[in-house]
Parts: sequence; structure tokens; C-alpha cells
Amino acid sequence: MGTVETVRIAKRTGFCYGVREAIDKAKESAAGGKATHTLGQVVHNEGVIQNLLDFGVRSVESLDDVNNGAAVVIRAHGVKPEVFERAEERGLEVIDGTCTWVVAEQRQLRELVAEGYTIVLLGTPKHPEVVGLLGFAPDAIVVDEEADWVNIPRRKRMALITQSTQPPWKFEKLAAFMVSRAHELKILNTVCPVTIRRQEDTLELAREVEVMVVVGGRHSANTKELTRLCEIAGTHAIQIENARDLDDPSPFDGKRVVGVTGGTSTPIEDLRDVAERIFELAGTDAARADAVALAEQALDAAATPAGRTTSLPNPPRAAAGAA
Ligand code: SF4
Repeated sequence: MGTVETVRIAKRTGFCYGVREAIDKAKESAAGGKATHTLGQVVHNEGVIQNLLDFGVRSVESLDDVNNGAAVVIRAHGVKPEVFERAEERGLEVIDGTCTWVVAEQRQLRELVAEGYTIVLLGTPKHPEVVGLLGFAPDAIVVDEEADWVNIPRRKRMALITQSTQPPWKFEKLAAFMVSRAHELKILNTVCPVTIRRQEDTLELAREVEVMVVVGGRHSANTKELTRLCEIAGTHAIQIENARDLDDPSPFDGKRVVGVTGGTSTPIEDLRDVAERIFELAGTDAARADAVALAEQALDAAATPAGRTTSLPNPPRAAAGAA
């Protein structure tokens, strides 16, 4: 018999505002009758991609796949300036869903280039946000793991900036390392506040529960960081992509209180589904019988409806398909 009585969902989870805005803009465009595409998947989450398809929004990998006259949504990560230029040449309607925080980073990079700094960008190479940022500072040196840092050259005037979702501890450590690399060092702390708050709330919850479940893309750096933080708090964490990945009750053996958190691309409703699955898999008899209601209560305790995935209601399934 299972032992789980309570599942708690971390506060300030669900989509970050940048992702939510981009999704809403895409849905609004499609709901207004315009053929709408997103350039790349807005988030790597099957449910969200299907929901967007229900609105008629399809993701494309290149502007070449967008028909003339259609609208194309730039996702929260942003893109290189050339992408806007190419879209304009093609006469496409561009809906800019670049997160305001990323727009600020892009502007700061442009200024650093104009001021002649040698720029070091802490980020995951090939991550779409980093690729977009490099469009504003093509000569920036991208570094990620600590082992790469020795390759940072010594220069007179250097600037350090970061991809929005990098862990604050890593940025601080690199800043300290770079002090010895330059005569003048300018530090721009562009770690997104949403990332910081999510990490704080996850840490707080991890300290209060017996085991944590972290929900997010397998390759998502901010999700992996949440898992790492739970372990630092001394609470074992299981990382999964969605409720279907939970089929082994053993991590919950003897546990009464379980915590659930998620990355910035994970809808908060997915966390409710995970809570329900935990009750079904490892709940006490009473919890198992009441799994749906208990999971809904956990969601209510974590977020008001305004804090949820989207501000737009879903279309009837019959309206699906138009693109
Ligand atoms: S993590 Fe922060 S910077 Fe990145 S899209 Fe979300 S809100 Fe914007």
C-alpha cells in the first residue's frame, strides 16, 4: 500500500512570462483568422504544441517554410537581427514574441560591442537564445562549463554577460574568475529574475518534503539546475518530462509528503497531472481514491488562475487544424 498523503507544488512555477507572452501572441494571431507559424517550437512540450495546433498554429524550422502573407511568431528566446530582415524582405508579418528581458540583453550586447569590450557570454552554445544573442555580438566568446574558462584570453577591457537561464552561482563564480583576466571588467548580471525566484521556491519546498519530482525537458538546463538544487537541499529528486514517465512507485516508498516543481517551459497544469499520478501510483488508499481532487487542490495552492499557462481559453476541438 502507498504512503503518500500530500503533494505540494512549488509556487511561482509554470511558464515564465516570456514564454506565456509568446504563446498568447501566437494564439491571438491565429484566433484573429491569420495563418500563423512559430519559428521553432515555442517550448518542447507535446501538450503545448498540440494546444497550439488546435488554435491553428504550426511551428516551422525556417522562414522558407512560411507561406507569403502568413504571420510568423518569434519565440521568447529571440533571434539574430538578420532573421527580421529576411522576414521583411519576404513581406511576412512578424509578431515579435522575444521576451523583454532578452531584448534588454540584446541591447546591452550591442552597446558593449560599440564600446569596444571583449565580450564573454556565459551560455549553452547552440541554445537558441545564445544563437540569437551572437547576432548582436558575433565576436563574443561563449563559455559554459568551468573546464572551458581557462580558454578565456587576457584582455585590457572585458565584459561579462550571461544567457538568462544560467544559474546565478555559476555566473558569480565566472565573474570572480574573470577579475584576473582583465584590467577593466564590466559585469552585466542578466540572469533572469524568474529563474532566480523559481530556484528559491524550489529550494524552499525541497527542504519541507521527503522527495521531489522535477518536471521539464530532458535537455532543459534550467530544469537540470532545479534537480541539482533539490539534491543540494538534501532531498532526493526524480527528473521527468511528464506524468507518463512516472511508473515506478519505489522512490515514494515510505514517503508521506512529496514536492513537485517544473522548469520555465513546463505548464503548471502538467505539475497538477504529475501530482495526480503520484497519488495514483503511491498514495494511501484515501489519497488514491481522491487523486483528482487532491491534485487540483495542490494546483490551487500553488497558483491563482491568472498565474496559469495562458490567458486565452481553448478553442473547441472541432476548430482544430486550420493553418
Ligand atoms: S526565462 Fe526569463 S528571460 Fe527567459 S523567456 Fe522566461 S522570463 Fe524571459
